[in-house]
Amino acid sequence: MEKKFKIFMDFDGTVTEIDVGEAIFREFGDKDKSDEIVDDLLNDRISSKECWIKLCHSIPKIDKKKLDEFINKMYVDPTFNNLIDYCNERKTELYILSDGFDYYVDKILEKNNIKGIKTFSNHLEVRDRLIPEFPYYDEACFSSSNCKRNHIINNSSDDDFTVFIGDGNSDKDAVEYCDFVFAKNDLLRYCEIERITFFPFKDFNDVIKKLGELEKKKRLKKTHRAQLKRQQAYINE
Ligand SMILES: [Mg+2]
Repeated sequence: MEKKFKIFMDFDGTVTEIDVGEAIFREFGDKDKSDEIVDDLLNDRISSKECWIKLCHSIPKIDKKKLDEFINKMYVDPTFNNLIDYCNERKTELYILSDGFDYYVDKILEKNNIKGIKTFSNHLEVRDRLIPEFPYYDEACFSSSNCKRNHIINNSSDDDFTVFIGDGNSDKDAVEYCDFVFAKNDLLRYCEIERITFFPFKDFNDVIKKLGELEKKKRLKKTHRAQLKRQQAYINE
């Protein structure tokens, strides 16, 4: 049987080199206040949704032109194009699941000439202040206001080998639902603590190499934990 991977990936700190969402609030808001709010998030004292609402409130007024200039300076991992090529060659579906905002995610992808990737993120209305909206919110997902888990379940079948690539807090729920996890930074430490099997990666060339190895395996096994979690999510619907 042909092995069909379906890849779901984070945006901030994964596609981009830094966490753009956080950087915006540190730049345009009160740096200490932003750090305090993010610290509450990272220690599970507040949900991701509470975190974004607080951060948006922390900027009473924003200059849209300056915000756009700031976003324009953000870098995408230079090896990301290799992953896109890899997926195109194999007709592997790739999804970006971001707990950040469409406002900057779309701009950054466009500026880097990255087209045609299905992307789900939170919505940000930029007027003279920032108004967040959460079209994919599900209270079952504490660490991501854009419930990544739901996108994974809705866009994959039991025949797919699901892959997740991420770096941090917003990926904590999602990794439990995928067969293969690529993790770096905070997500790597989380997977270690929670004993979730993962492959460490530095850039997307590492991911491509490992996926190539998995493709060659005679018998590739799906992850039992991920299957159970998916079943549970169906039952709870
Ligand atoms: Mg991230």
